[in-house]
Amino acid sequence: MQTPVFIDDLPDISTVASRKSDHYRQTRNRALAEMLLDDAVSWHERACPACGQSRDLSRNFSQALMPFQRCSACNTIYAARVPDQSHLDGQRLRLLDELPPETADKPKRPREFEYISILNWIRLTEARSGHSLGKVLDYRFSSQAPSWPDAVTRLGTHRDWSFLPLAADGETGFDDLRDRLQAETPDAVLLYGEMDRVADPAALLRVVRANLPRGSLVFIATSCADGLEYEILGADSPSFVPLDRLNIFSVEGFSQMVRELGYTALEVSTPGRLDAVILQHYFTEIENADVPFWSGFFRSANKDRLRDLQILLQRSLRSGVMRFVLET
Ligand SMILES: [Zn+2]
Repeated sequence: MQTPVFIDDLPDISTVASRKSDHYRQTRNRALAEMLLDDAVSWHERACPACGQSRDLSRNFSQALMPFQRCSACNTIYAARVPDQSHLDGQRLRLLDELPPETADKPKRPREFEYISILNWIRLTEARSGHSLGKVLDYRFSSQAPSWPDAVTRLGTHRDWSFLPLAADGETGFDDLRDRLQAETPDAVLLYGEMDRVADPAALLRVVRANLPRGSLVFIATSCADGLEYEILGADSPSFVPLDRLNIFSVEGFSQMVRELGYTALEVSTPGRLDAVILQHYFTEIENADVPFWSGFFRSANKDRLRDLQILLQRSLRSGVMRFVLET
């Protein structure tokens, strides 16, 4: 299993500050509050979605809006009660309708970087693993990033891509995915930022594995609970938006879950680029609190020190974003 390190330039602080705007957070928190008050939404209590450890043995992570726990066995952070998938999808569709559209002339560099990074990831995996990935199915990322399909065409990959956007669906929420997998049998499926948001992540991965031939690949990018940001700031982390982060898996927890589902992990990495910059922004712009060592470190760190730290986090699987390549 490889843990590649991605040494990139650190992004500009302005891209981080605008990444999760206050308005976006408030919109998401309002949506969550509406769901909590809506009798039509059914909620279910759950144990750790990664390793199954009982909630009673976990630690409190946040009680704001609804309870989040941190699993003491695998370190995964999770909502202890989750809404049914069809209401989750409905709320998300409404939010996407409200967001201003991504236009071609908008500054698109941060996202462009992300897109190139995804395409390179698939290309390198194909070369390293010897799998031929001619047909790739993207599940729902095109809804979150409407310019993504354009970028795939423009950046000229020689692959047959298909996109399955978020849609209001039936009871389970994954029937559209099952049908598409059976109809197209892609060589690979991309689940980018999706594992954080679904009520039953294991169910999603079960649908994927049950409807693909053995030897297919699944590319997954998700938040990482082992990231330094969550370790230092906990629920104050700027990246923590409860409705978008129902599951924040740890490397260990996610590895265990996919193994139990029958997958083989070909690659695990935490290639996040933003942890150091987010934390510096937090300690210099948002919060005066003194956290031993870290507040002083971030207030005095220059760009080279931040870059050194970010590389260390990537190498030690401690960045806030993780990637898995799984084989069915
Ligand atoms: Zn766990």
